[in-house]
Amino acid sequence: MKRLLLPSGSEMPVLGQGTWNMGEDPAARRDEVAALRLGLELGMNLIDTAEMYGEGGAEEVVGEAIAGRRDDVFLVSKVYPHNADREGVQAACERSLRRLRTERIDLYLLHWRGNVPLEDTLEGLLRLREQGKIGDFGVSNFDLDDMLEAAALPGGELVASNQVLYNLLQRGVEWELLPWCRERRLPLMAYSPLESSPQEQGALLGNPQLAAVARRHGVTPARVALAWLLRQEGVAVIPKAVRLEHVRDNRAALDLALTAEDLAQLDAGFPAPRRRRPLAMR
Ligand code: NAP
Repeated sequence: MKRLLLPSGSEMPVLGQGTWNMGEDPAARRDEVAALRLGLELGMNLIDTAEMYGEGGAEEVVGEAIAGRRDDVFLVSKVYPHNADREGVQAACERSLRRLRTERIDLYLLHWRGNVPLEDTLEGLLRLREQGKIGDFGVSNFDLDDMLEAAALPGGELVASNQVLYNLLQRGVEWELLPWCRERRLPLMAYSPLESSPQEQGALLGNPQLAAVARRHGVTPARVALAWLLRQEGVAVIPKAVRLEHVRDNRAALDLALTAEDLAQLDAGFPAPRRRRPLAMR
């Protein structure tokens, strides 16, 4: 699996698995664990979760899926903004570690910006890093102005990644956020790479230009959408899938090479941004 270098020197796999909506229904748990385990067997060994998902339920599913294979996994979790003051982030991380049944989260993110001053959050995250409870820390849903503010604070130079909405339909980050991150060798993590709401996913996967590229390669539109993200320099991608055929399809996106003709057709179907827009979120 190709890896991206974090500013600390650690490496993060370029393709992983999301877990939003997991851990909410006990009847679905077996399938969710099986999907994550299949993904790990296929080499998608970054798992992204959060204390928010299923109010801890998703972290428990992940804990079960990675039991006995923790060393093979690059584990990402996130703290709620309202838990992200100096003491709160410590307690939240410890709760996450218990649910994940591990002693260390590889990358711990502030889920989005709330009312807690960023310097307090960074102080808490630095302390967790010193304690070895987290490897790296980062942010999520941060636009360029938030990144600049964080970068100027003590510990801000250690922010390792920014997880944001990025897919063919939502290309706003290409205007200035992605170039800024690339310049600093700070990987962006693309969330909702396939758009999870039925309406948005329909608009993405039902796009005629995407369908034409998929037909040319004899693959699904989803695989093309992921392959397109995976070829962006400095971007990691975290599709969520419970159906096993989806897990296999997502892994196969790594092996799909898009041609110049494909890329031009995708640009026609999903135009790149022509001006600055506020960061979109889900
Ligand atoms: P997503 O991964 O883009 O889409 C998930 C949906 O697509 C599910 O309904 C899934 O179905 C389906 N799917 C997966 N693979 C497919 C394939 N090959 N073909 C067709 N359909 C496929 O959406 P997401 O869950 O919103 O985003 C991914 C992850 O990013 C999340 O799970 C979460 O970890 C993270 N995230 C972070 C934030 C943040 O604020 N930081 C926000 C949103 C998401 P099945 O499950 O039925 O297989």
